[in-house]
Amino acid sequence: MSTLALGSLIPWLAVLSVEALQMCDGAIELHVSSRQPTAACPVCAQPSAAVHSHYVRRLADLPWAGIPVVIHLAVRKLFCRNTACPRRIFAERLPQLTAPYRRQTLRLWEPV
Ligand SMILES: [Zn+2]
Repeated sequence: MSTLALGSLIPWLAVLSVEALQMCDGAIELHVSSRQPTAACPVCAQPSAAVHSHYVRRLADLPWAGIPVVIHLAVRKLFCRNTACPRRIFAERLPQLTAPYRRQTLRLWEPV
Protein backbone atom coordinates (compact mmCIF):
# COMPACT_ATOMS: atom_id res chain seq x y z
CA MET A 1 0.00 0.00 0.00
CA SER A 2 1.35 3.40 -0.89
CA THR A 3 1.71 6.26 1.60
CA LEU A 4 -0.79 8.28 -0.43
CA ALA A 5 -3.52 5.63 -0.05
CA LEU A 6 -2.80 5.23 3.66
CA GLY A 7 -2.87 9.02 4.08
CA SER A 8 -6.33 9.22 2.56
CA LEU A 9 -7.54 6.56 5.02
CA ILE A 10 -5.94 8.26 8.04
CA PRO A 11 -5.71 12.02 7.30
CA TRP A 12 -3.81 12.87 10.50
CA LEU A 13 -0.79 10.84 9.33
CA ALA A 14 0.29 14.00 7.48
CA VAL A 15 0.99 15.77 10.78
CA LEU A 16 1.54 12.93 13.28
CA SER A 17 3.97 10.02 13.58
CA VAL A 18 2.95 6.65 14.99
CA GLU A 19 5.63 5.81 17.59
CA ALA A 20 4.11 2.51 18.77
CA LEU A 21 1.12 0.26 18.15
CA GLN A 22 0.11 -2.43 20.63
CA MET A 23 -2.82 -4.48 21.91
CA CYS A 24 -3.72 -3.78 25.53
CA ASP A 25 -6.82 -4.92 27.48
CA GLY A 26 -8.70 -5.82 24.31
CA ALA A 27 -8.00 -2.48 22.61
CA ILE A 28 -5.55 -1.32 19.97
CA GLU A 29 -3.36 1.45 21.34
CA LEU A 30 -1.52 3.89 19.09
CA HIS A 31 1.10 6.18 20.56
CA VAL A 32 1.43 9.22 18.31
CA SER A 33 3.32 12.51 18.37
CA SER A 34 3.43 15.62 16.23
CA ARG A 35 5.82 15.76 13.30
CA GLN A 36 5.31 19.49 12.69
CA PRO A 37 8.46 21.55 13.37
CA THR A 38 6.44 24.46 14.76
CA ALA A 39 2.96 25.15 16.14
CA ALA A 40 0.98 28.38 15.94
CA CYS A 41 -0.04 30.23 19.09
CA PRO A 42 -3.88 30.11 19.25
CA VAL A 43 -4.01 33.77 20.37
CA CYS A 44 -1.56 35.58 18.04
CA ALA A 45 -0.93 32.84 15.41
CA GLN A 46 2.86 33.28 15.62
CA PRO A 47 4.63 29.94 15.06
CA SER A 48 6.87 28.61 17.82
CA ALA A 49 9.37 25.76 18.07
CA ALA A 50 10.27 26.45 21.72
CA VAL A 51 8.97 23.39 23.60
CA HIS A 52 8.06 23.91 27.26
CA SER A 53 6.83 20.37 28.08
CA HIS A 54 4.69 17.46 26.94
CA TYR A 55 1.56 15.75 28.20
CA VAL A 56 -0.46 12.82 26.92
CA ARG A 57 -4.09 12.97 25.81
CA ARG A 58 -6.12 9.78 25.48
CA LEU A 59 -8.52 9.82 22.52
CA ALA A 60 -11.01 7.17 21.39
CA ASP A 61 -10.91 6.55 17.63
CA LEU A 62 -13.00 4.50 15.20
CA PRO A 63 -12.69 0.74 15.85
CA TRP A 64 -10.56 -1.46 13.61
CA ALA A 65 -12.48 -4.63 12.65
CA GLY A 66 -14.65 -4.15 15.72
CA ILE A 67 -11.69 -3.72 18.09
CA PRO A 68 -11.71 -0.43 20.06
CA VAL A 69 -8.87 1.97 19.18
CA VAL A 70 -7.31 4.35 21.70
CA ILE A 71 -4.83 7.03 20.62
CA HIS A 72 -2.28 8.25 23.14
CA LEU A 73 -1.38 11.67 21.75
CA ALA A 74 1.81 13.32 23.02
CA VAL A 75 0.89 17.01 23.02
CA ARG A 76 3.59 19.67 23.06
CA LYS A 77 3.28 22.78 25.19
CA LEU A 78 5.24 25.61 23.64
CA PHE A 79 6.32 29.10 24.58
CA CYS A 80 4.84 32.01 22.62
CA ARG A 81 7.78 34.34 21.93
CA ASN A 82 5.62 37.26 20.74
CA THR A 83 6.14 39.86 23.46
CA ALA A 84 2.87 41.59 22.46
CA CYS A 85 0.86 38.39 23.03
CA PRO A 86 -0.82 37.81 26.42
CA ARG A 87 -0.34 34.01 26.11
CA ARG A 88 3.02 32.77 27.42
CA ILE A 89 2.54 29.01 27.01
CA PHE A 90 0.11 27.16 24.78
CA ALA A 91 -0.72 23.57 23.84
CA GLU A 92 -0.25 22.57 20.23
CA ARG A 93 -3.57 22.25 18.36
CA LEU A 94 -4.08 19.35 15.97
CA PRO A 95 -7.37 20.10 14.20
CA GLN A 96 -6.76 17.22 11.76
CA LEU A 97 -7.20 14.81 14.69
CA THR A 98 -9.36 16.41 17.39
CA ALA A 99 -10.48 19.62 19.11
CA PRO A 100 -9.29 21.02 22.44
CA TYR A 101 -10.72 19.14 25.46
CA ARG A 102 -12.34 16.41 23.32
CA ARG A 103 -11.75 12.78 24.29
CA GLN A 104 -12.52 11.47 20.82
CA THR A 105 -11.03 11.90 17.38
CA LEU A 106 -12.81 14.15 14.89
CA ARG A 107 -13.87 11.22 12.70
CA LEU A 108 -15.41 9.36 15.65
CA TRP A 109 -17.80 12.13 16.72
CA GLU A 110 -18.33 13.54 13.20
CA PRO A 111 -18.09 10.56 10.84
CA VAL A 112 -17.96 11.64 7.18
ZN1 LIG B 1 0.93 34.26 21.06
